[in-house]
Amino acid sequence: MRTIILANGETVEVECLSCAITNGIITPDGGTIIETEYFHAHQDVAYPIKGLVILASKRHLTCLDELTEIEMQDYMNILQKLRKAQRELLGIEHVYYFYNEDTTHHFHTWMVPRYDWMYQFGRSIESVRPVLLHAREKMNTLENQREVRQAIESLSHALNHDLL
Ligand SMILES: [Zn+2]
Repeated sequence: MRTIILANGETVEVECLSCAITNGIITPDGGTIIETEYFHAHQDVAYPIKGLVILASKRHLTCLDELTEIEMQDYMNILQKLRKAQRELLGIEHVYYFYNEDTTHHFHTWMVPRYDWMYQFGRSIESVRPVLLHAREKMNTLENQREVRQAIESLSHALNHDLL
């Protein structure tokens, strides 16, 4: 079991956070952005950054090469739709993608949007940790939380109604 700190400051103990979210045991702030047969997209619950999307498989697996052919197609398809929605609805020009296989929870891809304020922490991978910590420590204002929730709603609305 591990303890997860949510964006609203509450803590929750789970065995696999991805299983807990994709199975509906935990509802992330703002809820589900979109769900497919094999994947589940939601805002990262730990960091209040608009359009910071986690795309998690519904099946508990660890490595990319464990995805079946059909899961792989579903993954690429929804990943690209999410990316398009980030661009068209939130004006996100660039995204960093991360997934690591030695995580304590299961297969999920982080889509980390780049905003101008992030460049004070540099570029590329070394800037990501300070950016996330800055967001968690300095951007947890009510106004920003509202903006994050609005972004979730607009992504969710467009993706679930095929508006892109
Ligand atoms: Zn899992």
